[in-house]
Amino acid sequence: MLFCCDASATTHAHGPVRVNGPRIINHLEALSEYGKNPQGGVSRIAYSDADRAGREYAIGLMKDAGLEVSIDTAGNLVGRRTGTDATLKPIVIGSHIDSVPEGGNYDGDVGSLSAIEVAQILSERHLTTRHPLQVIVFADEEGLMLGSTAIAAGLDLPRLNSVSQSGKVVRDGVKFLGGNPDRIAEAKRAPGSIAAYLELHIEQGGILERENLQIGVVEGIVGILDAEVKIEGFANHAGTTPMDQRHDAMLSAARFTDKLNQIVTTMPGRQVGTVGWLKAQPGAYNVVPGKVTLGMEVRDLDARKIQNLYDQIRAAADAIGRLNGTSFHFEQHAHSEPALTDPKLQTLIDTSAKRLGFSTRLMPSGAGHDAQEMSKLGPIGMIFIPSMGGISHSPREFSKPSDIENGANVLLETVLGLDRARDAY
Ligand SMILES: [Zn+2]
Repeated sequence: MLFCCDASATTHAHGPVRVNGPRIINHLEALSEYGKNPQGGVSRIAYSDADRAGREYAIGLMKDAGLEVSIDTAGNLVGRRTGTDATLKPIVIGSHIDSVPEGGNYDGDVGSLSAIEVAQILSERHLTTRHPLQVIVFADEEGLMLGSTAIAAGLDLPRLNSVSQSGKVVRDGVKFLGGNPDRIAEAKRAPGSIAAYLELHIEQGGILERENLQIGVVEGIVGILDAEVKIEGFANHAGTTPMDQRHDAMLSAARFTDKLNQIVTTMPGRQVGTVGWLKAQPGAYNVVPGKVTLGMEVRDLDARKIQNLYDQIRAAADAIGRLNGTSFHFEQHAHSEPALTDPKLQTLIDTSAKRLGFSTRLMPSGAGHDAQEMSKLGPIGMIFIPSMGGISHSPREFSKPSDIENGANVLLETVLGLDRARDAY
């Protein structure tokens, strides 16, 4: 391969370096065939036949882009490109291509194929970055980020032995994708081993579209606290029990749901809180419910605020219980910490986007991404593009080709800017 140029100049002898937008769209269309479903979306569940076939397609694209491709022991696809300075840590870019059941063709795919396009365009322009460049297509993002967790933190045995959405045990799924579950620990990388991780992703919400903006600069990925709440009352005859003698767990659940919403919306900020499911027992028309179990969650970029909200919600629940003689028991489940993006990378993404003529805003990511795991290894940055109608995890998920091209160009520009930033990373 001929390395004609140092990539430190964005404007190159053959004009400004830009991605080939129509090529990304062609690749998105080709990838959409793997796991295509009648609803017009895709069901490319991690570790399924469609997932493996889609990954084989991605490997072909990565090789065409001049990347040296390997599959790590966790089943992640890793494409490597040498830099001019071997003492520098790699700049890592990527995303995932697995989907939820009946998902869309943009979540993960846009970021993965754009990352490959960045490598492709550098290769075509004979440009070599100072830092080594790595493109990663993570395994099993939708199943709680197993591939990126294996890289950033290590996968424990319970998760390796759990059953994935494909029906396969994760261990067998990893093997199916070409990984090696017996040597999964070898996928783990050391904290500080990357210069930075950058991910382009669709917003999956409607803020950019509503505000008619082109690029979202992600401030961080929110932390999530979820809890199962058991409300104990007393089941009794719905016809003969007077209203003032009831210990109605369902009534407490209704008051609780309303109060949670009040608490979350009264505090200034962008926190969100939800009661997502509810089960009443015994569950009959003619019985006052004696027991309700429900699931709640709270999300925010600030871990202290999440705890503060949870404390207020619990105190409110006790007060609600006292009103009608019911009791609340909270069992806290998963609690993921917020993962903040690097302020210098936020600025770099913002200035890169503005230099390309795009409008931007800072925004949190309300959904989880591989980037939150990668934040354990080094600074992360995330670029959002608009999702039409704010729809995601649906066959109706859509982002405009022009927005995809814009996002990919911001990714490329940010990679080049980061590569030029002497001493910064
Ligand atoms: Zn995603």
